[in-house]
Amino acid sequence: MQMFEPVTAYIALGANLGDAAQAVRGAMDAIHALPDTQVSRRSALYLTTPVDSDGPDYVNAVIEVKTTLRAPHLLEQLQKIEQGAGRKRPYRNAPRTLDLDILLFGGGHISSPALTVPHPRMAQRAFVLKPLAEIAPHLVKPAQLRAVRDQAIEKL
Ligand code: AMP
Repeated sequence: MQMFEPVTAYIALGANLGDAAQAVRGAMDAIHALPDTQVSRRSALYLTTPVDSDGPDYVNAVIEVKTTLRAPHLLEQLQKIEQGAGRKRPYRNAPRTLDLDILLFGGGHISSPALTVPHPRMAQRAFVLKPLAEIAPHLVKPAQLRAVRDQAIEKL
């Protein structure tokens, strides 16, 4: 099998059904257990009011990973972890037991039917920017944080 150079990627985790904090922590461990992938940083867990979704508050976090998987393969693995957590998609933006999004993949820009990176909505969401700024402050500008300061978010 061909080996690739490790890439630093950032993944957003979110859950708002069942034991959401446990779902997020379990997903971090499941990602760390993926082939050729290590979780190198984990943000705190944050409690946030749903944005573009409904149901109970969300638990959100962001992790940094080092991986030699290519982005589509990483997405495939993340979707398996979502399915393992019992994710159903009854309708768009429905409440979910677990949501995993690739925010950044190295410095890469990806635009395919399955994958858009950088994640197109990351800059509008406090639940992404705050935990990302915690583990990778160089990636988030103060003006971006100011732009989302009205969104309710608290550290768990
Ligand atoms: P969601 O309902 O938020 O889990 O959206 C999942 C869908 O978004 C999947 O069909 C993915 O192929 C697609 N998608 C596009 N870009 C990304 C990304 N950067 N990270 C995760 N899923 C993505």
